[in-house]
Amino acid sequence: MTRLIAPLAFGLVALASATYPLVSRSIERRERGVSLQQSPLEAGSRPPLNPAYAPALRQFWGRSSSLTPRVGIQVGHWKHDELPPELVRLRDATGAQSGAYREVDINLAVARSLAELLGSAGVATDLLPATVPPSYLADAVVAIHADGAARVTARGWKMSTPWRASAASRMLLDSVAQSYGEITGLPEDRYGITYGMKGYYAFSPQRVLHAVSPFTPCIIVETGFVTVAADRAVIADRPELVARAIAVGVLRFLGARPRAVTPDGRLAYLPPSYPVAVVAAEGSELRAYPSPDERIVRRLERGTMVMPMQLRGDWAEVVVRGNFRSFGWVRRDELGPMG
Ligand SMILES: [Zn+2]
Repeated sequence: MTRLIAPLAFGLVALASATYPLVSRSIERRERGVSLQQSPLEAGSRPPLNPAYAPALRQFWGRSSSLTPRVGIQVGHWKHDELPPELVRLRDATGAQSGAYREVDINLAVARSLAELLGSAGVATDLLPATVPPSYLADAVVAIHADGAARVTARGWKMSTPWRASAASRMLLDSVAQSYGEITGLPEDRYGITYGMKGYYAFSPQRVLHAVSPFTPCIIVETGFVTVAADRAVIADRPELVARAIAVGVLRFLGARPRAVTPDGRLAYLPPSYPVAVVAAEGSELRAYPSPDERIVRRLERGTMVMPMQLRGDWAEVVVRGNFRSFGWVRRDELGPMG
């Protein structure tokens, strides 16, 4: 019964916030003064709901959790010439290429095989082209891409959630990253994640109409490099292996899908929202991963404004405000709230 009640309670509160802007405004005002050390998510209370999410939330709530799980598989660059006017700048984005090998062909082969595998496991699938239906709602979406690079050291796969990822999106990422590395045997391109992946248009409902619902857990997967023969030996020559590596992670995620409200009070499907923070320490180090031994991306001057996206232990993942190419992890005690 609590399984049912907790989500219902969340739905009513969230809908009330969305329906009555005054309520959500007062919540926002209250949370602006909260420091990162007492983050609303960690305190177990509810972050403010962006009123723009209200229609998507109603749609999310209208789905019964007893339905057959549904997974959207987006084929990177597929039917790129049919992108709508709002995405006209991407109509020329045909993807990576190396000789006769085209990324879109690799993406399509992997995606078709993935749809088959998930289908045989009882999962409903949608094979999506570059154009995603507006507010596309599913239990998971995986965007399939392959990378291209001129540098000779390029190798392997990488995957990412959107900038502001729900807990469910991060679970999906962890699950697929684990199975993908194990099953393909390909190395991880550990420092290769770009701001373009994090700001992927199809996962940006705040910017683009043809994007997934903010409540859809989603990741973008770069399966390997089209331009590297050793990667091609897997991604181009063995698409069914690549598909299996993704399917195992997706199925594991679906089997452990979080409740709408997790026991510690987090809203599993709602992208978090943190107040803008300011770097309070001199020469704070922005690192690629949350560890003092990790590679330093750059140093941040005191007073630099950053947007926190997730917290982990003593660390906060941030992007520098106004410079989306600068992102990484800083120590939380070096951040302060805006004055
Ligand atoms: Zn691509």
